[in-house]
Amino acid sequence: MARKPLMAGNWKMNKLPSEAADFFPEFLELSKWQKEQVDVVFAVPATHLDRLLDIGEESGISFAPQNVHWESAGAFTGEISIPMIQDLGLNYALVGHSERRQYFAETDETVANKVGTLLSAKMTPIICVGETQVERESDKTVEVITRQIKSFASKLTGGDFVVAYEPVWAIGTGLTASQEQAQDVHALIRRLLKEEIGEQADTVRILYGGSAKPANISGLLAQDDIDGALVGGASLKPADFAAMVQAA
Ligand code: PGA
Repeated sequence: MARKPLMAGNWKMNKLPSEAADFFPEFLELSKWQKEQVDVVFAVPATHLDRLLDIGEESGISFAPQNVHWESAGAFTGEISIPMIQDLGLNYALVGHSERRQYFAETDETVANKVGTLLSAKMTPIICVGETQVERESDKTVEVITRQIKSFASKLTGGDFVVAYEPVWAIGTGLTASQEQAQDVHALIRRLLKEEIGEQADTVRILYGGSAKPANISGLLAQDDIDGALVGGASLKPADFAAMVQAA
């Protein structure tokens, strides 16, 4: 099953709105990106989204929030709703990043709410899952990934979604999962999805994230069930992310 690769940058809380647009001319020139062959998404701070709309329109790059709330409006100070994102004409949203789970009390339940609401709104969630170092060392990886996938499985009633496998111990640490470790978990995720949504699981793109960089991306992308990457640190540098998009 040929799946179109997806390379996603996650800028986290980096770059100023006034600096954001400067990234793209260099990135586009260096990457010689062919949008027919690879999808490119940048999850940027919400303050940047409106400013990047023209770049998205001209280039075909998709921009996405790093988090959304599942309620469409109301007394939720500090939150951003899905209709607000759709009003900007955007299609993707990051959901359940481990930093959201770790620092902002995001749970399997809130992740599931967000996934369900995004799919009902015909948007494409990029759903992050991954085990911590303690969980991996105590042989809990399969259990944790299974729990995380099953937590939102009932919301998968149609529409496009992406799963990002991001072992927490590999995020921003310079430690990358080996190709084999990553492929094993990606294959597990696809098996779990198959139990829930049948053959449609073969069309779902599963991204790897966690210290992905130009030096390791080709080996990761060569694995059967790795369909792209969610890239933090290396997505802040036009040359690095361009090289990674080229490798896809
Ligand atoms: P990293 O971050 O590439 O800097 O490890 C990945 C992520 O958190 O999405």
